[in-house]
Formats: sequence, C-alpha cells, structure tokens
Amino acid sequence: MQTLWQTVLNDLELQVSKAVFQTFISQMSLLSINDSIATIGCNQPMLINFVEKRYYQMIKKTLDSYTQSDLKLVFNAKKTDGKKQIDGPLFTLKIDSHTGTPVIDVKLNPNYTFENFAVSTSNHMAYAAATAVASAPGTSYNPLFLYGGVGVGKTHLMQAIGHFSFQKKSKLKLIYCTGEEFTNEIIEAIGNKTTSLFKKKYRQLDLLLIDDVQFIAGKYFIQEEFFHTFNAIQQVKGQIVMTSDRPPEEINKLELRLKSRFEGGLTIDIGQPDFELRTAILLIKAKQRKIDLPIELAKLLASNVENIRKLEGVFIRVLTEAQIRNVAIDNELIKSVLGKTVKEIPAKNNINPAKVIDIVASYFNLKLSQLKSNKRDRIFALPRQILYYLLRVEVGVPLMDIGELLGGRDHTTILYGVRKISNLLSTDEKIQEDIMGIKNKLY
Ligand code: ADP
Ligand code: MG
Repeated sequence: MQTLWQTVLNDLELQVSKAVFQTFISQMSLLSINDSIATIGCNQPMLINFVEKRYYQMIKKTLDSYTQSDLKLVFNAKKTDGKKQIDGPLFTLKIDSHTGTPVIDVKLNPNYTFENFAVSTSNHMAYAAATAVASAPGTSYNPLFLYGGVGVGKTHLMQAIGHFSFQKKSKLKLIYCTGEEFTNEIIEAIGNKTTSLFKKKYRQLDLLLIDDVQFIAGKYFIQEEFFHTFNAIQQVKGQIVMTSDRPPEEINKLELRLKSRFEGGLTIDIGQPDFELRTAILLIKAKQRKIDLPIELAKLLASNVENIRKLEGVFIRVLTEAQIRNVAIDNELIKSVLGKTVKEIPAKNNINPAKVIDIVASYFNLKLSQLKSNKRDRIFALPRQILYYLLRVEVGVPLMDIGELLGGRDHTTILYGVRKISNLLSTDEKIQEDIMGIKNKLY
C-alpha cells in the first residue's frame, strides 16, 4: 500500500504546483483500502478539510487509475505519522536520551545505490562528482550541490553517496534528511527547548545529505541555523551534499552568504533523461522487481513517457493490468495501457541542432537573427524559449552548449526558458500545438 501511495503521490506531484504539493498533498497518507473505500489520513489534521474540498477528484482519479477501481475516499482527520512511513526507510540519527550522545540508526532506500544508477550524457557529470565525494567525503568537492527537475535522479544519487560511504566506514556519522525535515526539526527543538541537542546532533557529522534544500529559502531563522551547521561540519572536515530543483543563484530569498557557500563547492545540473537513459532505467526497475522485460517493450514505454516518475507509474500500471487480466506483458497490453496516442520507437536520435533552429524560425515566421536576438517582446521571446526547450529535451543538448549555440547566453537563462515551457506545456494548448507542429516538421 505504501508503494501504491508513493506512486500516486509521484503522479500528483506532476499535476499541481510545487507549493500545493509540498504544503498539502505530500502530507496525506493512505491508511487503508477496504470495500471500495480508501481512507486517507494526514499528519496535519488541520489541512484535511481543505484537501478534501479542493483535491478530492484529483486524488480519486489518480488513485483509481493505479488501482483500476472506482474508490470512494474518506478523509480521516486523526493524526497519523504516515509521512514518515511513506518516505521509506531513510538515514536517521537519534540522540540517546540517557547519555545525550548521538546513536546512528542507518536505514535508507536499499535500491538507491550507484549499482542501480544508469549513466548517460544528462547525468554523467553528476555521477562522477557523486562517486568522487562518496569515496573520499570531505576532501573533494565540498559542498556538492546537485540540481535538476522532478525525477531526474537527485534523491537516488544522493542516497547512493550515503550507501557507499557508509559501506566503506560503518562508524561514519551521517544524516539524510529533506530541507523540510531539517526545518521541522529546528522548529520542534525550539519548541521543546532542545536546541543544544539539535546542535550536537548536526554539527559533528561526517556526512550531511540535505535533499530539496530549496525548502529552507526565505525562512531566515532556519537559514541562520543551517549556516552555522554548515560551517561547523566543514570545520571538522565533514562533507555536505545538497539537492535542489534549481541552481543556488535561482533560489530566491536565499541569504547571500549561504548562496556563496554553495557556490564555493561544486554545482552540477542533471538534465532530463533522454530516450536511451529512460530505457536503461526502466530495465533496472524491471530487474529489481524480478520481471523479465524485453528490451523492445522497455523502448516502447520509454519512447512514450518522458518523465521518469510517470514512466515508473505507467510500468506499475502495466504490471497490475497483466496480473488482473492474467495476460503476458506484451506490445498489445502496453499499448492498451498507454491509450490511443502511442508513439513508435524513435529512430536513433541524431537531429542536428542547427536544423532545429532553422525549423523553429520558419515555423514562427521569424528570421534567424530575430530568433537569436536579445529582444524580449513575446513574439520573439516565446519562440526562443520553445527553441531552448526542444534543444534540451528533444535533442539532449546540454544547457551550456545551447547558450553557446545561440551566441553566448548564460545557462541559467536557458534553464529558465526550458522550465517555463515545461510548465506551460501541461496547461497551455497553444504551446502543446506549437511543439507538436515543430516536431512534425523535425521528424
Ligand atoms: P528526483 O529526486 O530528482 O526527483 P528521484 O531520485 O526520486 O528523482 O528519481 C525518481 C525515480 O527514478 C527513482 O525511482 C529513481 O530510482 C529513478 N531514477 C532516476 N534516475 C535514474 C538513473 N539514472 N538510474 C536509475 N534510476 C533512476
Ligand atoms: Mg528527490
């Protein structure tokens, strides 16, 4: 049930804004499913009425799609600690209440290892840096800052560092937590007047892994504590690794001195996985479930679903369908799960970026010089951002290279454009149409 709920949450994350997901949806947990009734709990009972009112249909639809049923949802306001279970086994470090010394209690997602991580152009830099840090924490890149969109493998890579370092040195003091958990812990420590324990716990670590660190932006008191923690850990030659959905300079409201700390280490972007990488990841996931997925079928799925989390979701749906209908996993089954818009497996991706630039210009009736110019009017800026998007996502050109292709633009500008189009794509039909039109011309 936890796996199911995690899959549903991953899907919901793609349907709402980040803020809504973090504040509301991610607080929900699935308590039970009995007689077509799914009971949803929440670790913040105050939220539950609001979520029920606003997101009932969305949650129901998503849950139904994975369970292949027509469930009635009941929202239960009783406090649960579902969140902790959902997050799966993670690293924690507890303080022994008698002696006041930290006790390490190592748990983490056993599948998130380097062995299970597939490497390709979009993530090889991040992989290289992560392995370097894992083999010699505190000595190579410190801090290591990994950023990228949803599902590109940030959490996986970060936990792999934890696994590896811990295998090498089992006395290693390490903590894995999310920016949100870090924040909550500080707030709790203040409430319970246990800040000295908090300090003790965090400030003498060998390895601190903070996932989704953007969460602490704008929370000045938390940032202050984080800053001190950061300094203390670096002083004892401990390693810090952070992930975020955007580069440090784009995390608004992040204090300047923190930002410059992040940039003092190594900052690496992980791009969206291309078709080959998606296929490889899917094969790894199948193997973990002891399913023998033929490579052609993996390719068919990977060519139709671009987001890794969605891809895992669709794969699970295929498995469920196969079980329910008691049929083999084959072409036909996959196509029926994918629905009517099945794309065939693409020919090897060797599109020339220059060709994409030409086609985008002609599609929008712009001169090349207009498309490449710095003019900010919407009639130029939007096609330009669509171009960034296609070069990054469709052709797999790294952000830096796109910047150079277009006359020396900063990679953060490119990233901004790619994000904007990705976001618009889920709601804006005109943009969906434009992208389809351009892709038709391309292929
Ligand atoms: P993020 O934290 O960037 O949102 P995750 O680390 O949660 O992404 O990855 C989403 C899913 O995709 C996980 O199940 C993860 O194991 C898988 N995944 C992502 N990238 C890779 C990869 N390169 N190799 C293997 N699995 C991957
Ligand atoms: Mg993550």
